[in-house]
Amino acid sequence: MRYLKTFEDNSASIINDFFYKKCISNAKQSKSKSERYGAIVVKNGEILGEGFNRAIVHPKFKLDRFLKQGYANHAEVEALNDAITKGYDVSDSDIYVAGYFTKTKTLFFKQQFTCKLCIPYFKKFNIKNIYVPLPDKWNKRTVQNCVEDSVLFHRGNMHNDRLNVSVGDYKLSLLENKKLYD
Ligand SMILES: [Zn+2]
Repeated sequence: MRYLKTFEDNSASIINDFFYKKCISNAKQSKSKSERYGAIVVKNGEILGEGFNRAIVHPKFKLDRFLKQGYANHAEVEALNDAITKGYDVSDSDIYVAGYFTKTKTLFFKQQFTCKLCIPYFKKFNIKNIYVPLPDKWNKRTVQNCVEDSVLFHRGNMHNDRLNVSVGDYKLSLLENKKLYD
């Protein structure tokens, strides 16, 4: 049985992390009905690019993109696209990515990187590490770690597999009383 964390519970200390708040702030711009993610590209402590998972090719909102994954771009690829479009050299940068499940508003905390569709972009642009959120810290994954992690999430129902690795039952409301720059 999972347990519900409340705002007073300090064990989800990552909600005070600036990069985490940035990622969730980006994720909230997503329109996805199942999972919403935000990502940032960081190099030497500076945020070079930001993104959230979104459709890009639908005629209604056809968006011009240097990097295109298909019908939609994942948050990580959107953040890379943003940084590259701004003219930054993204090699050796890190990517932070965090999100939540749309229906339950449960924050997605996990040990693993759960998507193999983004990995070719990490390799192509020489990304150093990917950080995924746990309640009390960012969990560092090398690109090779991501390769090994992601295999487990491309065998069937990826959404259910991600629900199954989600850690705890922390709600988006944990962040609602938090200012981005406090
Ligand atoms: Zn992805």
